[in-house]
Amino acid sequence: MNERDMMLTAILKCRPVDLIAEPPALTRRQEAAFNRMQARRLSGEPLQYILRSCDFMGVELTVDPRVLIPRPETEILVEKALERAKTLAARKELRILDLGTGSGNIAIAMAKYLPNCSVTAVDIDPRALSLARRNAAANGVDSSISFCQEDMTVFLSRAAEEEKQYDIIVSNPPYIAAPQLPHLPIEVRFEPQAALDGGMDGLKFYRGIIARAHRLIRPGGYLLLEIGDGQVKDIERIFVSYEQYHQLNFTKDYAGTDRVVCAQVKGKLKNG
Ligand code: GLN
Repeated sequence: MNERDMMLTAILKCRPVDLIAEPPALTRRQEAAFNRMQARRLSGEPLQYILRSCDFMGVELTVDPRVLIPRPETEILVEKALERAKTLAARKELRILDLGTGSGNIAIAMAKYLPNCSVTAVDIDPRALSLARRNAAANGVDSSISFCQEDMTVFLSRAAEEEKQYDIIVSNPPYIAAPQLPHLPIEVRFEPQAALDGGMDGLKFYRGIIARAHRLIRPGGYLLLEIGDGQVKDIERIFVSYEQYHQLNFTKDYAGTDRVVCAQVKGKLKNG
């Protein structure tokens, strides 16, 4: 379906096939709404914000400028996390932590496709969290997810002191180097800066997460992260400086770029 038809189905609240069967007749109000949508799109605003909707792994999410628009590459991260989760399935209830949840896409997809899990979803932005909560409820998984408003590294430090333990920690952290932010395509500039800004070299959150996450992951559990273009060597270097991790493994995206890293925390896997 092209963008025009997507706008029309949203306005007419009809199915794509209805547009083919009969050329759409718009009321004046609907026509005005369609023109407003087209003007927003021409100004560079992403279609998903205009339609307030996005599909992520078959999960329908409401999105608006409070949150990053989930990307298809992030589905690879979730697929890998689900694969790892299955290797740990003998455990009674898998505990999963999603850092920087944004729209809640990762947490919600994990909860939906892993029936025996409980997910903690963290985000620094209360406005993003309120949308993530709403998305979780709309997808019927709110009872499996608890939301926490906190900076992710502060959360990790506090949770380690409280001796919290997870089977899998997953994150798509902000990873754009700050000096590149002004040069991003116009569409990306509609998205929240805080969801993109990875500090001077784009690696700030990786350092913070990798340094702390191993204390919170049960022996044999996993840390999975989405990574930015060209960051693979730097990420590898950060991981190998912590002897707690092993089995470092990278997965490429559809364009052949290393996009996801998975590391296992050493130690013997225990059930229960
Ligand atoms: N977890 C969300 C996503 O993967 C948001 C990530 C972010 O804000 N950096 O799309």
